[in-house]
Parts: sequence; structure tokens; C-alpha cells
Amino acid sequence: MFTGTRGNDGKNPEKVDFSYAMLNPSAGFGGLYSPEILPKFDKDFFTRAAKKNYKELALEILKLFSVDVEEGVLKEALDLYDKFDDKNSPAPLVKVKSDLFVNELYHGPTRAFKDMALQPFGYIFSYLAKKRDEKYLILAATSGDTGPATLNTFENKENIKVVCLYPSGGTSDVQRLQMVTAAGKNLKVIGIKGNFDDAQNALKSLLASETFKEDLKKQNINLSAANSVNFGRIIFQIIYHVSSYIELLKRNELKEGEKFYITVPSGNFGNALGAYYAKKMGLPVEKILIASNINNILTELFTTGVYDISKKELLQSVSPAMDILISSNVERVLFDKFGAKRCKELMSELSCKRLYSLSKEELEALREDFDAVYSDDEFALKTIAEFAKKGYVLDPHTAACVKAYRTIKQKDIPCVICSTAEWTKFAPTMWNALQNNKCGDKEALENFSKTLKVGIPECISSLFEKEIKHTDVIDKSQIQKYITDFLKG
Ligand SMILES: *Cc1c(COP(=O)(O)O)cnc(C)c1O
Repeated sequence: MFTGTRGNDGKNPEKVDFSYAMLNPSAGFGGLYSPEILPKFDKDFFTRAAKKNYKELALEILKLFSVDVEEGVLKEALDLYDKFDDKNSPAPLVKVKSDLFVNELYHGPTRAFKDMALQPFGYIFSYLAKKRDEKYLILAATSGDTGPATLNTFENKENIKVVCLYPSGGTSDVQRLQMVTAAGKNLKVIGIKGNFDDAQNALKSLLASETFKEDLKKQNINLSAANSVNFGRIIFQIIYHVSSYIELLKRNELKEGEKFYITVPSGNFGNALGAYYAKKMGLPVEKILIASNINNILTELFTTGVYDISKKELLQSVSPAMDILISSNVERVLFDKFGAKRCKELMSELSCKRLYSLSKEELEALREDFDAVYSDDEFALKTIAEFAKKGYVLDPHTAACVKAYRTIKQKDIPCVICSTAEWTKFAPTMWNALQNNKCGDKEALENFSKTLKVGIPECISSLFEKEIKHTDVIDKSQIQKYITDFLKG
């Protein structure tokens, strides 16, 4: 069962099944549904898992959470991993140094790790909506990767409409084209004049607006979300951390029970939370190393115990998916460690004072599982160039992990870095790292690909010829009207 991170407000049910939490992700007092008790891997789990493929392992883990969806449907959802580059290994683990491995999570249809969860998530979500004969509007605000992955998974799905807000001018051309060429009739993509925070805030105020909800109710439409506040995403983000450990065992890089590090480039903390849950369930993880960029709020939290955004402004970086100040899924760790009462207290301090401070003991408890470090654009560019020269291509987000590997990994044991995007999504940055030369996406893709002899997948190269379906770029104040019109039309 799942329960709210801030306790029960009497308006939302106190304990819910997986399917309820997926369709209605927001819990009492604005909290998030989280596992009431985390399941544990039994002592033979990893031995059994070593004989399974990725999809079979995924099914085992879903069963541990007593997911209330028919097994046949779960299997069909997991079959979507067959679309990834290597159907036997949707998230391959690549060795780049004796103690450094990269878990490549970007081999899905939109070339970012969001597909790992959103592909099966979208299938199950629309199955549930259809089965219940309910209609859903999914609102997404994106800095560039969630949008394409959400649009892809819900394209032409019955009972679902998606509105995706992106900051106009704030994404790469590839990311923008992935969205504005989305063809499904149930999809609407809107550029917002402003940055990602503006798009996100616009979405939040819509989600909180009673008139908007009333309006939807009249049309029998429920509102939901597909970002990582939805536990239905997090559950799929536990699996690949487990599969990377099993790979290390199979390759004799580790013996059963020996520990390893996981390093995650973090933004909204969904990926890192998946690693935390896996650790709590019994995966032998030494520590989860959080890599952030100059928006280093997570590094501050895990090193000082203070989460203070009162004087911070969002800065732009070459790793835009980590440009974030309010990292939603930290809340689920606070809940798991300190309980709903304390979690609610900390979250209300954050919203009133834009700041909370953990006690010394609380910080120590966090540091049992986490450490963190941040790096800047210069480090990302240097690291991309350095690795590229040695023959391995890292995107700017993944490059931030190298700093964690070099500076806060303390023990001489293997370290798995989560690679969250293919280089093709950030080609201008990649080319600039290599040649100190700025150009647009198309040219940068070609240049980088030729110079390093790395291929560009068809789904990316074809974007430049595809028909543009969505041209609206609007002011924040117009969003509600646009969405209402789309729903009517
Ligand atoms: C979404 C994303 C991240 C951040 O992941 P979180 O789960 O939100 O912490 C990092 N890198 C890339 C490329 C992403 O798309």
C-alpha cells in the first residue's frame, strides 16, 4: 500500500493501491504517495535474478510492490523495452575504466532516460483509464526530456490527452523538434515565454486552480501528472539499478554481497530515489553519489543539512535537466527516514520560508545513504572532451557524475554512473566541448558524428524533415484558455 508523505488531510484516502497512486499522484496536504513499507529482496533474489532478462527482473520487482494491475498487462507494458536499441539489454552497462561503469539509460525512443519509466508507465496508465472508463488530462512542464518522452508514450492513446509546456528558447533544437512534431491528435504542445520555472509554476497554479478543475469536471476529465512525483514512474526507476548490480556479478566485477557506488546526475531526484529504494530493499550499495550542476541545492542539502532557496536564483547551464531549485522527490526520502509528521513540517517551512534545516542527527542519517558534489559548465565541457578523446561519449549531465566519481567516491570498489541522455540531444554543447565552436543542432550533430565516428539514430536525424504540428508560443497568462480550447476542440 501507498501512503502520503505529509500524512492524511481527510480529503484524500490515507492508504491507496498502486493504480490509485498512479492515476491520482497527489496525496494529502500536497504530499506524494510513497510506499508505506518497502519490500525486501529475499536472500536468493539476486541468484534467481541472474537467470532472468531485464523484463523478467522488472516483473519480479513490480510483484514485490504488489502492483494491482493484471500480470498480462504488466508484461505487455514491459514488452515496450523491445523497442530499445538492444531488446535483450535495454539499459546496457558499459565498462570505461577498471572501477568505472556507465549504466546507459538512454536507448529508448526519445534518447533520454525518461523512456525507461515512461514507456511502460504510459501503457499501464492508459490501460487503467480505459478499463475504468475515465478520461484524463496529463499536464507536463518540461525542460526538454520529460516532454518528448511523455508525448511519445501517450501518442494516440485512448482516454488520454496530454498538454506539454516547454520554455520557448530554453531547450535544444532537437528537444523542441521532438515535441513540436508530435503527431497524435490527443497531444498539445505549447511554448511558454519564460524559463522552465515559469512553465512549471504555470502548471502548478493550474493544478491548484479550483475553476480549472471545475471546468474539467464538467467535461468529465480527471487531471493527472506524469512527472516523477508520480510513483508509477519511480517504480520503473528502481529496476535498472538492480540490473546494473546483477551485471557486475555476472561479469565477476563483484562477488555477491560486495558493495558498489551508484552515481546519479540529479534534478527532480526521481532517479536517485529509485537507487535509494533499491538500497533500502537490500541492494548492496555503498552510497548514492548525487551529482548536481551550479544549481547546487542538492549538494548543499547532503553536505550541510540545509535546504535554502531563499536567496537562490535558477541559473542556466549546459545540463538543463538538472537546472532546478525545488527537487520534488527529496520529500520521499525525508518521509522514509523521518516520518510523515516531520516531513510535513519541513515541507511547510520550505514553502513559507523557502528554507529548512535538518538536525545534526538527521543530516547524519541522510549521509548514511548519500553524498553529493556539484560541478560547473567548464568541468562538463572538459570532461566531455577528455572522454571523447579516449573513445567514450558522455552527455553534459552524465559528465557531472565524473566529478563525483573523482572527488567523493571514498572506497576502492566499482562505481556505476547513470547516463541519462544520448549526446544527440545536446549536440551544440558536445561540439563546443570538442572544438570550442558554437553552431546549431543540425550542424553540430553532423560535425560531432563525423569527427568521432558515432552514429545518429534515425529518430533524431529525421526530426529536421518532419512536419511541425505545434507552433503556439504564448504568454503564461493565456495557458488556461489555451488548454480549455484544446479540450473542447
Ligand atoms: C530528467 C533528467 C535528469 C534528472 O533526473 P531526476 O530523476 O529528475 O533527478 C538528468 N539528466 C537528464 C538527461 C534528464 O533528462
